[in-house]
Amino acid sequence: MERLLKIAVIGAGVVGSLIARQLTRYRCEIHVFEKEEDVGWGVTKANSAVIHGGYDDLPGTVRARFCAKGNKMYAALSEELGFELNRIGSFVLAQKPEDFSYLETLRKQAIENGLTGCAILPAQKVREMEPYVADSILGGFWCPTAGITEPWMVAIGAVENAVKNGAHLHLSEAVTGFITDEGPRGRRIAAVKTDRSEYPIDIVINASGLYADELSELAGASCPPLHPRKGEYLLLDKFDPPLVRSVLFPIPSAISKGILVLPTVDGGLLLGPTATDLPKGEKQETRTTREGLSETLSSARTLVPTLDPQWTVKSFAGLRPESPQKDFVIGKTEIDGFVQAAAMRSPGLTAAPAVAEHIVEEVLIRECGYAFERNDRFTPVNPPYENVSRLSLTEWEKRIEEDPLYGKMACVCNKVTEGDIRDAVRRGATTVDGVKFRTRASFGRCQGGFCLAKIAEILARESGRSLGEIKMRSGKTEILRGMVRE
Ligand SMILES: Cc1cc2nc3c(=O)[nH]c(=O)nc-3n(C[C@H](O)[C@H](O)[C@H](O)COP(=O)(O)OP(=O)(O)OC[C@H]3O[C@@H](n4cnc5c(N)ncnc54)[C@H](O)[C@@H]3O)c2cc1C
Repeated sequence: MERLLKIAVIGAGVVGSLIARQLTRYRCEIHVFEKEEDVGWGVTKANSAVIHGGYDDLPGTVRARFCAKGNKMYAALSEELGFELNRIGSFVLAQKPEDFSYLETLRKQAIENGLTGCAILPAQKVREMEPYVADSILGGFWCPTAGITEPWMVAIGAVENAVKNGAHLHLSEAVTGFITDEGPRGRRIAAVKTDRSEYPIDIVINASGLYADELSELAGASCPPLHPRKGEYLLLDKFDPPLVRSVLFPIPSAISKGILVLPTVDGGLLLGPTATDLPKGEKQETRTTREGLSETLSSARTLVPTLDPQWTVKSFAGLRPESPQKDFVIGKTEIDGFVQAAAMRSPGLTAAPAVAEHIVEEVLIRECGYAFERNDRFTPVNPPYENVSRLSLTEWEKRIEEDPLYGKMACVCNKVTEGDIRDAVRRGATTVDGVKFRTRASFGRCQGGFCLAKIAEILARESGRSLGEIKMRSGKTEILRGMVRE
């Protein structure tokens, strides 16, 4: 029997998920290992969710190469995988006369990076488009192709599609080591060890986010050290009409793009992120701080002064995987078969589809010379996650007639029905957070205060588990300690 190449993708963040899906276009045996209980719960879960235009990456860097291309690829990807992509455009706002020289640099870089439609707009035009910006705004660099999405839905969609096309998904299974041996091209990957088993493997794609340096070390492959750079956020309530329509950037600082003000796809308003370097050992330090949140608010108010902290529904923090060279680390290593998709700091979400295509088509096929045959049965399309409340009233009514669960509201803030939640569980959600990320239930104003019990009940009913077994997310995050009375 023909032996297919065995490939391990470590990490089901947006990068690993899209690589796994790209691999399923070819005939090979793909194993995706993810230490968490669900997909997209690493760096992919907590970031600004901007599909960047690709104008601010220095021409010639790896980031510039993949960001502008990734942005373009998102159009087809959102259609195929069924996640939302809103091309709302972005502004970089000038508040001092000298800021215009930076805007001019962006304009030139945009042309060099292959963007069209960007322009420097005067204050009056900016205010017509964004009426609530500060009086101090003198003008802005406008990029019409920038957008927003839900990053975890990109990863969920890509993994679902990869599995549909034959990939094996190993959730709650951490890679703990590698076995290497001597091959014709030097030291090579022979097997992957996990906390459950050992798998003979020919190729490893290291897409493990913040941990890519540690896994590289276990394989004997070089990777720059990664440390977390924390970004704190405030999520504000929905406004109708929206307070801000596009992504608002300040002039960047030396270390980050600065604190942004932007809408979320479900109509909320996001402020952040800060940029605080943490020691290498603090890769799980996602607590928000009083200083971080007040910096977030005061910086956001320099762009939109009317922002009120009383509108806050949630604060959270994400961690960027920062490397000394501040660029992605992509490509083969000195260990044959060990390929990096590492140091994916911003704009890694935007760049991910282009990086996935590059790793498979350029690195594995052209540079490494692996001979893959096309998978003739590859199906690119997933059905979208539906929210019946967004249908017309007539269509919604028709759905209720077919199934009354579509008429029972579980999450009032984001209008998610019991039927929508049940469907998400049937498609793979196993925890309350799994439901939340797929359906937006408990993502709104009450943050689960009113709907958590209902979600847990549906999860228990659909998965045949007791309520006590239902968890918020991975690990020890049980919701119930025990029954008060049976
Ligand atoms: C604050 C902040 C703001 C950002 N804003 C933007 C933005 O607006 N636009 C943009 O384009 N980019 C942005 N980014 C960057 C973007 O979020 C990342 O580039 C992207 O999410 C990285 O995805 P990933 O798949 O590489 O990493 P991850 O999402 O972290 O995926 C890696 C996965 O590997 C798993 N893993 C780790 N170790 C193991 C192991 N031993 N075994 C099995 N699994 C393992 C983890 O659990 C994780 O799920 C931002 C990042 C941050 C932090």
